[in-house]
Amino acid sequence: FALTEPNSGSDAASLRTTATKVEGGWVLNGTKMFITNGPIGSVFVVIARTDKEKKAFGISAFIVEKGFEGFSVGKELDKLGNRTSTTSELIFEDCFVPEENLLGPENMGFVIVAKLVLGWERSCLIAPAVGGIGAGMEVAAKYAQQRRQFKRPIAEFQAIQHKLADMKVAYEAGRQLIYRVASMLDQDEENLLDAAVAKEYITRTCIKSADETVQIHGGYGYMREYLVERGIRDSKLASIGGGTSEIQLSIIARALMDI
Ligand SMILES: Cc1cc2nc3c(=O)[nH]c(=O)nc-3n(C[C@H](O)[C@H](O)[C@H](O)COP(=O)(O)OP(=O)(O)OC[C@H]3O[C@@H](n4cnc5c(N)ncnc54)[C@H](O)[C@@H]3O)c2cc1C
Repeated sequence: FALTEPNSGSDAASLRTTATKVEGGWVLNGTKMFITNGPIGSVFVVIARTDKEKKAFGISAFIVEKGFEGFSVGKELDKLGNRTSTTSELIFEDCFVPEENLLGPENMGFVIVAKLVLGWERSCLIAPAVGGIGAGMEVAAKYAQQRRQFKRPIAEFQAIQHKLADMKVAYEAGRQLIYRVASMLDQDEENLLDAAVAKEYITRTCIKSADETVQIHGGYGYMREYLVERGIRDSKLASIGGGTSEIQLSIIARALMDI
């Protein structure tokens, strides 16, 4: 799913990749940035400008296949976390896309993205972050019972117990939020506000839980051998991908005040 560009991220509607109508199809020119599965994908949904005069209502979606002439994939990007998921640029240089590869109505691409794709993305792709909270909680609870300091398991210290209890609260609340937005999607209800609320809550708590999981492990948690440091690196993406935390908060605040 290729929406983001080198110069348009949060302000996605200002994207500059163009799709120019020609006989039998479209010609795409431009570059997409940070595209998940770019290096390994075979079919891409590419969002491009089809009308320069209109901002959000001059954008369309196209299906582009690996191997199309004029389409190339940049080098794999080296990331802080989520390193098992590949990411790259996509480059379009006079790339011809046949007419039938237009996805949805012309100039309605951004509406599709805003209402459908991002709703799904924010509702579902945040679920692994809840799983991350649960996994960290289990590992940390086990470690706290094994690790002894001051002649007793650290699990007996209230400071440690409260960290674990906070993780449990975040895990259960996060699960409920995910089920709620997923059920709204199932019933074709618009859920952009609810998805923003869920994404923001789960983002904050998964980053905090990853940090506390390392904290409970002390110095061992800081070592790669114990694997929990990975949670800190992986969880950070939740605050950026699929719309940043600042953008989610703006969606929530605007809905609250009806502006
Ligand atoms: C690992 C990874 C995978 C990704 N996969 C994909 C993918 O598959 N497809 C795809 O299309 N994109 C993908 N993205 C891109 C992602 O959606 C963008 O990075 C994200 O939307 C933010 O855009 P940006 O990076 O350009 O940051 P910017 O928009 O430049 O933001 C920079 C900072 O300014 C803040 N900011 C911007 N505007 C406002 C505002 N109005 N109010 C307050 N603060 C603001 C932001 O919140 C952020 O803190 C991926 C990104 C990453 C890191």
